[in-house]
Amino acid sequence: MGLTIGVDIGGTKIAAGVVDEDGTILDISRVATPPTPEGVVEAIADAIKTVGKGVSAEAVGIGAAGYVDDKRATILFAPNILWRHEALKDKIEQRVGLSVVVENDANAAAWGEYRFGAGAGYDDVICVTLGTGLGGGIIIGGKLRRGRFGIAGEFGHVRVVPDGLLCGCGSQGCWEQYASGRALVRYARQRATATPDAATILLGLGDGTPEGIEGTHVSAAARQGDKVAIDSFRELARWAGAGLADLASLFDPSAFIVGGGVSDEGDLVLDPIRKSFRRWLVGSRYRPHAQGLAARLGGRAGLVGAADLARQG
Ligand SMILES: [Zn+2]
Repeated sequence: MGLTIGVDIGGTKIAAGVVDEDGTILDISRVATPPTPEGVVEAIADAIKTVGKGVSAEAVGIGAAGYVDDKRATILFAPNILWRHEALKDKIEQRVGLSVVVENDANAAAWGEYRFGAGAGYDDVICVTLGTGLGGGIIIGGKLRRGRFGIAGEFGHVRVVPDGLLCGCGSQGCWEQYASGRALVRYARQRATATPDAATILLGLGDGTPEGIEGTHVSAAARQGDKVAIDSFRELARWAGAGLADLASLFDPSAFIVGGGVSDEGDLVLDPIRKSFRRWLVGSRYRPHAQGLAARLGGRAGLVGAADLARQG
């Protein structure tokens, strides 16, 4: 199979791209994400038709945030779009006339990194995406593992703190409340409130108040040596690394790939994650250690991965 089309559904933009067998995006079309669930379906179809015009694409892969059933056809539940048992595969196939595969967005990103990014050369890879929340993907023996019902790899909602912080999912103490972009901002605001003198660079990037601190400010301030920003990354890394050690107990992978906006900081965040991982890995001195790798495809991973999963059928 030659060219396929991958679709990434973001909070503000829907992107559809023509992707070749090497994972290269040849052309891309972006439309704003409409506010209604029906509107999103039409926008996906429009983006596919626009980018696919005059191209002999053979299938479509769609990465969507949410629980996708084991047939890769229906979104059982989406946290950000009001989709409940949404038959997305059928609806898009009717509109574009190509076969469609629907995949969880974190799974699609994991597959993209495994095939064309940091995972090249490894067959047992666990991907963790530290974005606004925390997503995951499991590749064992060179295969994406979805579980019996298609919902495996939802690492973000493993409870790491009994009776901990309330999560958007309704539970408490979920890992993503402690290791995600949103958690990073919370750490920074708390620390800037407690010790403003150690956060002068960080506070200067926003409106001067702890509440005005955003994720991009924390990254920029950390690069400039702001103590509170660096400590906030360390706190995030402490939780992320401890969770990866638990995942090593579960899956024993050869590599972890850490993606999402937080991983853009590279070794600033990865080194403390690796350190925390070693600290919490059971039997650390007596066993081989999985590699801790930064994702390489950035925001393209989901689109490229979805397109490749469509190619694989
Ligand atoms: Zn949760």
